[in-house]
Formats: sequence, C-alpha cells, structure tokens
Amino acid sequence: METIIIDGKSLAQQHQLRLKNQIEQMETKPTLAVILVGDNPASHIYVNNKQRLAQQVGIISELFQLSPVMTQDALIAFIQELNQNDKVDGILVQLPLPAHINTDEVLESISPEKDVDGLTIGNLGHLFAGKSRIVPCTPLACMDLIKSVCVDLTGKHAVIVGRSKLVGKPLAQLLLNENCTVTQAHSKTVNLRQICRQADILIAAAGKPKLIKKSFVKQGAIVIDVGINRLKTNKIVGDVDFDALRHHAGAITPVPGGVGPMTVTMLMENTTKIHMARHTKK
Ligand code: NAD
Repeated sequence: METIIIDGKSLAQQHQLRLKNQIEQMETKPTLAVILVGDNPASHIYVNNKQRLAQQVGIISELFQLSPVMTQDALIAFIQELNQNDKVDGILVQLPLPAHINTDEVLESISPEKDVDGLTIGNLGHLFAGKSRIVPCTPLACMDLIKSVCVDLTGKHAVIVGRSKLVGKPLAQLLLNENCTVTQAHSKTVNLRQICRQADILIAAAGKPKLIKKSFVKQGAIVIDVGINRLKTNKIVGDVDFDALRHHAGAITPVPGGVGPMTVTMLMENTTKIHMARHTKK
C-alpha cells in the first residue's frame, strides 16, 4: 500500500509563514527569553534552532547562557527577574538541567503567564480541566501532524507509547478533547505489541530506537514518531522502524523532518499567543 509520508518540515513552513505575516502586522514584537544552563552539546543545537527560527518569524529571542555550577536558588532568582520584566513574554528553560538542580522546582518558578512550554502545574492543570491556556509544544505538534491526514478524529483509537509530562500525558488530553479513545502505554505495560496493534493512531514517544516494529502496527494506521535517538554512528532515528512501515502504515512521520520542526514552530506560536494575551490585557 502507498504510505503517506507526513512532511513535518513543509507543514511547519506553512505555519511559520502565517506567523511571520501576523507578527509583521504587530506594533510590538513578541519576546522570548531562553535559558541554557551548562554546556550539553545537544541542548546547544536545540537552542540555536530556536533562536534561528525566532529571528526568521520576527520574534525577539534573548539567550541567557548560565554556568553549569549555578545553584538552583540563583537560577530561580534569575527566572523571577524575568517574570517581573515587562518586556519578556515567554520564558523557556532548556532541558535537561544539570543533575544538582531540581527540574520541577525550577519550571514551577516560571510565571504561568510566561510559561511558553506549558509545563507549569497551572498550565497543565488547565489543560486537564478542559480549559487549556498554554499547551506543551510537542503534543500540539503531534495534533497538527495527525490532523494533516485525518480531519475527524472522533471515535478513533489512539495509543500513546510514553507517559511523560512533556509529551505523553498532555497529548492524551488533546486526543480526548478530539473524542478519541485513548490508551496510554508505558515502560511497565504488558503486551505492548498487542495494544499498539489496536491503534488507528499510534504515537511513539519512548526514546527507544526501533521499539515500534511492523508487527506493532495495524495496516493503514497513522504513525507519529516523536522519538529522537542518536545512534553510535551519530545518525538520528526515531522510535519507529520507519523502513519496515513504509508500505504498511497509512501515514507516518519521518525522523528527522516530522515532529521536530513542528515542535519548534509551536514554541513560536505559543510565544506569540502569550504576547497577544499580555498586550490585550493592558
Ligand atoms: P521520557 O524519558 O520522559 O519518557 C519516556 C516515556 O516512554 C516514559 O513514560 C516511559 O514509561 C516510556 N517508555 C520507555 N521505554 C519504554 C518501552 N520500552 N516501552 C513502552 N514505553 C516505554 O521522554 P520524553 O521527554 O517524553 O521524550 C520521549 C522521546 O521523545 C525522546 O526520544 C525525546 O528525545 C523525544 N522528544 C522529541 C521531541 C521533538 O520535538 N521531536 C520533543 C520532546 C521529546
């Protein structure tokens, strides 16, 4: 069968063009503060991508590179200053943080109004209560990719492999909002293969290369691969055996070029949304 390869890069470019036009019409420009603690090489790449895209669409993006030995208290004090800074719309702390820092406590110190990643308890709580404000970027990206090949999700069985706060849990809420029947699988799930095989929409977000093989996927299913795994050869792959599914899945996202470009685009959309909300309030 002919499998649709969902082109995340091209979908992201369409969003970016709309966003750029929208920002061009604005008197004031959205501003994003990006905090990078330490020198994790992958984080540097992610942060550079974010900076580059922000510039392309007209968002002011300021990078704060902080010392890897910075204390948690000093980092939280730094974030609190940004919370008070009227010029800053969105605050993003690049993860992972160094081991001596408690990530949850740091994320929670971001004002929910400026929490561009949507990871504070306040924003997650609103999402879970069905009154979403700022929604995490990767789940938003997944929803757009799914909707690019399936307009009405009502009654579809979605299986999510992964239950993280960043991806799996918020994505389950978004799919429920679209009237999907949602199953959430995780590292302790028994019979993962059989559960995945029931999916009309299968989302892999485990961080395990080739976890999802052909035998895990019902013919014609939509497969969204969130995973980013660097192999020993330095090649980046997802969680899904892409080649094995090329003539079996109904639609599939590649890695790279699927969820990744859409996620960073959603970050820009969230920053712009916050900017508009803050400026209409005044
Ligand atoms: P995480 O480590 O916080 O969570 C992984 C989840 O997968 C856990 O809930 C765990 O229970 C589950 N899991 C692990 N092994 C499993 C197994 N063998 N079977 C079933 N479930 C299993 O990771 P995360 O932050 O949710 O990210 C997941 C993956 O997505 C990573 O590869 C990450 O790099 C990638 N990611 C990509 C983007 C993007 O923009 N493309 C964004 C965020 C995360």
